[in-house]
Amino acid sequence: MIQQSASAFASPAAAPAADPYLRLRNLTKAFQGVIAVDNLNLDVGKGELVAFLGPSGCGKSTSLRMIAGLSPATSGTIMIAGRDVTQVPPHRRDIGLVFQNYALFPHLSVLKNVTFGLEMRGVPAAEAEKRAREAIALVQLGGRETRRPAQLSGGQQQRVALARALVIKPSMLLFDEPLSNLDAKLRDEMRTEIRDLQQRLGITSIFVTHDQVEALSMCDKVAVLNGGRLEQFGTPHELYERPATAFVASFVGRSNRLLGAAEGHGVRIGDLTVEIPEARRGAVEVILRPHRITMSERGAAPAVEPTARVNRLSGTVRRPIYSGDVLQYEVAVGDRVIMVERGTLAEEAVLPAGTSVDLTWSVSDTLVFEATA
Ligand code: ATP
Repeated sequence: MIQQSASAFASPAAAPAADPYLRLRNLTKAFQGVIAVDNLNLDVGKGELVAFLGPSGCGKSTSLRMIAGLSPATSGTIMIAGRDVTQVPPHRRDIGLVFQNYALFPHLSVLKNVTFGLEMRGVPAAEAEKRAREAIALVQLGGRETRRPAQLSGGQQQRVALARALVIKPSMLLFDEPLSNLDAKLRDEMRTEIRDLQQRLGITSIFVTHDQVEALSMCDKVAVLNGGRLEQFGTPHELYERPATAFVASFVGRSNRLLGAAEGHGVRIGDLTVEIPEARRGAVEVILRPHRITMSERGAAPAVEPTARVNRLSGTVRRPIYSGDVLQYEVAVGDRVIMVERGTLAEEAVLPAGTSVDLTWSVSDTLVFEATA
């Protein structure tokens, strides 16, 4: 955990409480006729950490670069703290940027890397050094001021990049896949540290990632982008439990996707019938979370007797996949394969391929969307 005082780095005067700190209106970017970002509308509250999440090429980085002023918007507006900054050059937006590749000067020490931005802004040398040392301490690199980037680990280099972004006392922090170059354990640690620091400083931040776990576990809200368009903007819980589209349901979290034909509360999926929470008609996509499905050996009483309305299907284990903390099963049900998963228990035997099983899940956990073409 980062222990140093954060007060000196708290971001400048807040916008009136009712107004969002960052407001994007119809923000659009076209590259030679290709629409990279299409009419993006988004309000980010003061002090919030918001993820831009989506697959490669969905427009996350382009959106971030427009907010930073590094890429001019084709149309639309960007408001920060009530000010229209759409035409304002990047250095006048006072935005701190943290990139995947750290973008440090290799020939400069940690201290010089961090003071550089202040010197460019005309801050007197003594003041710049004092602020840089504070920022370096804030990211837990005190004592390493004289090292060069090559003498630091990847995680430490990313902390220097973070200190360099913080030292200008930015109005906002923008992160572009900052943890992608780090190994899994370090990534977990840095997620916690960035979140902790961001909350203590109260800096409104955008965090671009294609990693849904990162987005859900770190951020107050998540904007899911697909093909340059905003699919859904909500809290991690809203996105996961009430996905607005089939794309969100399948991109956020693991899922089984089954195409079928709805008639009232029933959906025919090949030779299977599944009950759904609301009446529908026509071609639909049914999405089931693997960990919401309970599996028991055929004939055995389920571990927990369901109290709500449930769906039940019979199948055969095709393949167990054991990965220590999680146990997944591919289960053949009719001519479909349904993935089931749960946390492991020390005493639990892994059911082998060929075991006859029953699958049950709550009707309310059966997500249904109109089928896309
Ligand atoms: P990734 O996760 O791979 O970085 P992304 O979601 O950040 O992807 P962007 O980099 O924003 O996606 O790109 C969005 C779309 O705009 C893509 O189709 C990309 O090819 C296109 N694009 C981005 N920059 C340019 C450019 N300078 N010229 C032309 N097309 C571009």
